[in-house]
Amino acid sequence: MPSTTTPGNDFALAIHGGAGTILRSKMTPEREAAYHTGLRRALDAGRVVLADNGSALDAATAAVMALEDEPLFNAGRGAVYTSAGKQEMDAAVMDGRDRSAGAIAGICGPRNPILAARAVMEHSGHVLLIGESALEFCRQQGLAFEEATYFFTEQRWQALQETLAMRQSGAVDQDESRKHGTVGAVARDRHGNLAAATSTGGMTAKAPGRVGDSPMIGAGTWADNETCAVSATGHGEIFIRYAAAHEIASRMRYAGQTLDQASRAVVIDMLAPAGGSGGIIAVDRAGNVSLPFNCSGMYRGIVRQDGRLLTGIYDEPLVDFHKA
Ligand code: ASP
Repeated sequence: MPSTTTPGNDFALAIHGGAGTILRSKMTPEREAAYHTGLRRALDAGRVVLADNGSALDAATAAVMALEDEPLFNAGRGAVYTSAGKQEMDAAVMDGRDRSAGAIAGICGPRNPILAARAVMEHSGHVLLIGESALEFCRQQGLAFEEATYFFTEQRWQALQETLAMRQSGAVDQDESRKHGTVGAVARDRHGNLAAATSTGGMTAKAPGRVGDSPMIGAGTWADNETCAVSATGHGEIFIRYAAAHEIASRMRYAGQTLDQASRAVVIDMLAPAGGSGGIIAVDRAGNVSLPFNCSGMYRGIVRQDGRLLTGIYDEPLVDFHKA
């Protein structure tokens, strides 16, 4: 999709709900409507913040919280399971004003992992906290916690059983929706500041302790006001090896590429041939937005000053779903 520009002091917010979309052949009208509704809710949560003159950081955080609360997406409630049948969540946030960043990895407990990442950024003096000690930090910060039953969904549990059975029989899994997913948001506020936020359960049947690209600053999450804010989704190991998000920023900074040129070069020309199926959402300081992906679909959406909530799943133009 070509990028579009936000003039002057207008704001822009883009979100994704993961590149592992349900195959079109398996999509029903009811499910499709539910995905659009979930995306719209998240866009609106961020839009309210930006329309009220709030920061890109708060808008991206609010949008990701809404996606984490929605069990359809692989983050927070509805996260996927490790091969050991546990949920281990990763999240990161980055503020383009000064490149401050916070992330957590391998945790299950905080209702909104993105708030844990934000607390790391604002109150720990560190960038990345992991595992049990990260949970202890979250408790000290007074974050809301939930039991395992809150995060459980039958759909993700079944996906784990199917993946394990396929592994045992040596079958290759062709269904991206069973494998992965992630949620993310990038925003440009009315003051021209950028921010990115990403949250995920990772990949179905991942090894316990495996950490993906989402909480790795420069791989799955990046923001600096001089170039762009990026949130990625896809095969994390490849995104890490190619420093995907930072690569987009570098191409803009050093090679003079536009946001769309840089995003496409990385997602289509670099990650795809390396086996890095997935996509990214990105916004630059002028409010251009780019949402390329190299697989069958990516749950995604954009909202700007006019308040229209535009969402899409497959390789087709975004729509104002409730008016469509
Ligand atoms: N990038 C995520 C990870 O590797 C998964 C995904 O977005 O599909 O953990």
